[in-house]
This record gives sequence, C-alpha cells and structure tokens, in this order.
Amino acid sequence: MTRQYKIAVIPGDGIGKEVMPEGIRVLEAAAKAYGFTLELEWHDFACCEYYAEHGQMMPDDWKERIGAVDAIYFGAVGWPDTVPDHVSLWGSLIQFRREYDQYVNLRPVRLMPGVPCPLANRKPGDIDMMIVRENTEGEYSAIGGISFPGTAREVVMQETVMTRFGTDRILRYAFDLAQKRPKQHLTSATKSNGIAITMPWWDGRVEEMAASYPEVRTDKYHIDILAAQFVMNPDRFDTVVASNLFGDILSDLGPACTGTIGIAPCGNINPDRSVPSLFEPVHGSAPDIAGKGIANPVGQIWCGAMMLEHFGEQDAADAVVRAIEATLAQAPLRTRDLGGSANTEECGKAVAERVA
Ligand code: ATP
Ligand code: MG
Repeated sequence: MTRQYKIAVIPGDGIGKEVMPEGIRVLEAAAKAYGFTLELEWHDFACCEYYAEHGQMMPDDWKERIGAVDAIYFGAVGWPDTVPDHVSLWGSLIQFRREYDQYVNLRPVRLMPGVPCPLANRKPGDIDMMIVRENTEGEYSAIGGISFPGTAREVVMQETVMTRFGTDRILRYAFDLAQKRPKQHLTSATKSNGIAITMPWWDGRVEEMAASYPEVRTDKYHIDILAAQFVMNPDRFDTVVASNLFGDILSDLGPACTGTIGIAPCGNINPDRSVPSLFEPVHGSAPDIAGKGIANPVGQIWCGAMMLEHFGEQDAADAVVRAIEATLAQAPLRTRDLGGSANTEECGKAVAERVA
C-alpha cells in the first residue's frame, strides 16, 4: 500500500510565500526518492493579507476547510507595521495550537556547516540538541489581576498553572525522545531554588518519570545557570525539557547560539496523529527582505524534515537534513544572510537535488 500524507499548506505573509515553494519542492523530491505521496491543499488564510480583505485572520469555518489532514505546513505570519502581533498571532497560530492541543513545542538546535557560529571555537557537530518546551500551560496563564490599580497600593499577581496531566505528558514526550537519541541524556530546566511551589513540584515529576527511563541519564539545571551553560558549554546538552516560559527563552537562545535565524525549524506537535501538528520556521515574515527573492529557505525546508519524521518517514527526514548540510557546506549555494550569493530558489533547488 502506498503511504500517502495529506498536508494543509499555509504560506502566509512576506517571505513565507517565497520560502514555502522551496519547502514543497524538497518534500516532493523526498516523496519521489522514498516512495510515498503527498496530497497538498493550499490555503490563503491565517495571514495578514487575508485579514486586510476580510477583517479577520481566518474564515469562521477554518476548521472545516482544513479538514482531516496529517499536518499543517506553515510559512510565516505578520505585517508588523499594520497589524499588531497579538491580532495576527492570536488569530492564526494560537488558534491552531489550542484547537489541536499541540502541547509540544520542539526545536532542534544544531550547528550546521557554513553557518557562522557566534560562539568561539565551535564546529559543526559540537552543538546538537533538542529543546522540548511545554506549549499549553505553566507561566502563560491569564489568571491574576491588579488590585488598587493606579494607586500607591497597587498589587499585581499572575498565577502559574501546572497540571499533573500537562506536565507528565510533556515529560513523557521528552524522555521518549531522549531515549531514542544516541546520547540518551535529558536535562530539565528548573528554578526550584527560587520559585518555591511549582518548580520543586516540577522536579518531583521529573524524578518520578526518570525512574521509568533507566537508560536515560537525567540531570537538572537552574534556568539562570542553564542559560549561561548554553553559551559556554553547549556540547553538554542533548535533550532539554522546560516549562512554557523557560522553554520560550531557551528556544530562542539555542538557535541564537548556532547563528541561525534563517534556518531554525520548529514543530508544534500533538503526538496523537489523529489531529494535525504544525511545522513552521522560527523566523517571521521578514518584511525588510520580502519580495526580493533572497530569503533563506532552509528553515522552511528543515521543518519539512521534522514533519516527515512526525509521519514516521525517518529515512526521508534524515535525507533532507543531509541534503541541507551538503548544500550549506558549499558557499555559492548559500543565501546572502550566510554570506553566499544564491537566491531563494537556487538554494531550494540545490537542496532538492541532493535528496537521495
Ligand atoms: P516574528 O516577530 O514574526 O517572529 P521577527 O520580527 O522577530 O519575526 P523576522 O521576521 O524573523 O523577525 O526577521 C528578523 C530579521 O532576520 C530580519 O532582518 C530578517 O530579514 C531576517 N530574516 C528572517 N528570516 C530570514 C530568512 N529566512 N532569510 C534571511 N533573513 C531572514
Ligand atoms: Mg516581528
């Protein structure tokens, strides 16, 4: 039986429209080489262009229009000068995350050949980790309020909400991932020396979960030291699991340490394949370079590889990552942000040709 995957393709705004065709080009090359087929459904909503015409980011029946798909392949959203971020993000990505309960935010952080590393004396292979961020609860609850607003007695409170269900499922995902990776090493981000209730409890959940994964070497770092260690000794880490806030910080710091805004990928994942997960590059719509055909397509392509891995097409996913590495290793095939001269399409074609 042929393996077939149905994908909702949402290019979005700005350079999203330019890098998406390259992502698709590479996915199609992988499908051909590895014997599966793709059914692609392109959508023009979940972007500011749609908002400008319709006054909302998505049609009311967006869920029906997306229908039963295996994944959403997303470009970028945002017209920062005209549509406030809270409108564009809440009206698109956050709707998907909530509706499909995409509770894992996964970011591979890897130093690639040809990418200048801001950390001294690091070479490809030295930095290779997975950051697993809890994506639905924790510090980002909207529970709280302001008492005596505007007076000298003003008191502001906001609660962190962690559930056993929400914490255990992200920890289980992270331990499963750590167990599959060669180093079998998991680091938990904590702050139990300063945050007196939630973080000691988080540590306890990690310890209990660790008992079921005896092969995985487990350690924990306070978030402040962990941030410093990301910069000083990034080779110490393999799989890193963190709450929503700590994960948010680490998943920007990690890619920054590998110099990769244009190439970093991201998955918003619900491991239960009955609902779609969403794969998108970390970068935004980059209005400053949009329309010029010079955007780096590697972030879009790499998150396509994550999507293939999510489908269980591990060999195809590995082939795409190898093709990215082989392309970046050659200066003329890199885009300008990496000091090369290739345009978006040339770089995308180079990766597609190398998928074998
Ligand atoms: P958002 O808020 O939507 O996440 P942002 O405003 O933080 O995004 P980006 O839109 O990612 O930022 O752009 C930040 C800078 O990085 C810009 O100067 C942009 O041109 C550059 N940049 C982003 N993505 C790419 C890319 N794929 N190729 C080349 N340059 C890029
Ligand atoms: Mg922005």
